[in-house]
Order: sequence, then structure tokens, then C-alpha cells
Amino acid sequence: RLNELKAQFFTDITHELRTPLTLIMGPAKELAAENNLSETASKQVTLIQRNAHKLMRLVNQLMEFRKIEKEKMDIYIQRCNITELLNSTYESFKPMANNRNIELKVLYQQTDIFAEVDPDKFEKIIYNLVLNAFKYSDNESQISLKAAIEDTETGTDMLVIEVEDTGIGIAEEHQSKIFDRFYQVHHKRTQNTGGIGLYISKTLTEQHGGTITVSSEEGKGTTFTVFLPYSSHSAALSQ
Ligand code: ADP
Repeated sequence: RLNELKAQFFTDITHELRTPLTLIMGPAKELAAENNLSETASKQVTLIQRNAHKLMRLVNQLMEFRKIEKEKMDIYIQRCNITELLNSTYESFKPMANNRNIELKVLYQQTDIFAEVDPDKFEKIIYNLVLNAFKYSDNESQISLKAAIEDTETGTDMLVIEVEDTGIGIAEEHQSKIFDRFYQVHHKRTQNTGGIGLYISKTLTEQHGGTITVSSEEGKGTTFTVFLPYSSHSAALSQ
């Protein structure tokens, strides 16, 4: 309870910082638009703007992070049709794929795969991975989404979801760090408040008792694999 109160206090303060910051950014922008500024004044205004933006970015990251931490607490597991959930993700990305001439495919081991997941969180996990596949791939490339039930070495079945792209790839030295919050490799392609998509996917996967891995080669492409526990109970229910 105390932790929760502390975290709430922290979020409130962070939130409060945004108002004065916005009020600094507004006048700075107007000042920068003036055309009779001396060279020194113009340089200083640029500096004010740059740092105000940086501060805003940090504040937004903190807010976003807090939102995830809070969301993490509630999980509503239910029996879901995984192929349906994946189809809906596929449909949301299809227009973007068409626009960019990207071949987007879904491949299922069987027509209906039922598993016990939190549907909202499951969609978030996959959505982040597919969005990244688009962000880090050029036009005319390929992205595929695969789902299957596989038995593992430990003898338990796993629901395995793969998001594969033929994009720019991730160098080996970054691969272990990309799941950390705020870690970004390709700064130019991303938004200012980025670096948390994979952190979210990982956190939510682990909340389901699952794991997420990456395998990638620079210049060739990347595959993210999500392993979620799958009980035969769900399969029995589906019949
Ligand atoms: P971002 O908002 O920067 O995309 P993420 O947490 O989703 O944040 O990803 C972290 C970093 O991992 C990205 O900045 C990018 O450099 C790298 N990355 C993630 N997915 C891919 C991918 N499919 N292909 C290449 N690089 C990727």
C-alpha cells in the first residue's frame, strides 16, 4: 500500500511538471519565430527549446512507464481463440502493408488454436512486435506472423508465436539489451518517447508465465518468438 502511495505521488509530481514545461515551450517557440533576433539570442532560444523538449520527453517516458507498472497488476486470463486475435492484428496492419508494398502473412498450424491468455495483453504483446517489424523494415519486404503449439524439452506444451521480418536486423551486441526500458538501437527510425515497446511485450509475456526471445542478423531480418504456457485443458475445452 505504501509503495503504491509512493508511486502515485511520483506520478502526480511528474504530471505536474508537464504544465510549467508546456508554458516554457510555448513562449520559446514564439520567440524562435521572431525574425529580428540577434545571432546570440537565436542560439540561446534554440538551446532552451532543445532542452525543454528533452525534459518533456523524459517526463513522458516516466508517465508511460508508470502506466505500464500499474497495468501489470491486473491480468484477466480467459480461454481465447488465438487465431482470431492474430487475425484481428493482421487486419489492422493490412492497410499499412498494402501502402508500403510489404507482404504480410499469417501462418497457423491449425485453423483454431485455443489458449488461456489475457486477450488485451496478448494483443499488446503481438501488436508491439508487428509494429516494430514495420518500423524496422523497408518497403517491399516481408513480415509474417506464425502460431503453433509445440512441445518443449521439459515435456510441457507451449503456444509459440513468431513475428518474423526481413528488415534491417539488430547487431548481436544489442540483442540482449533491446528488452530493457528506453533502450534504442536505431534512433533515427523511432519516436522520441520510444524504447519501451519491447519492454512492455516482455513484461506482459512474463506475466503470463511465458518468455520472449530474439534472433536476428543485421541486414537480413529479425524474428521475435513468444512462448506462452499452453495447457491441454484449453484444447479439451475447444472440442
Ligand atoms: P522503439 O520505440 O525504439 O521501437 P522498442 O522497445 O520497441 O522501442 O524496441 C527497442 C529497440 O530494438 C528499437 O529502438 C530498435 O532499435 C530495436 N528493434 C526492435 N524491433 C526490431 C526489429 N523488428 N528489427 C530491428 N530492430 C528492432
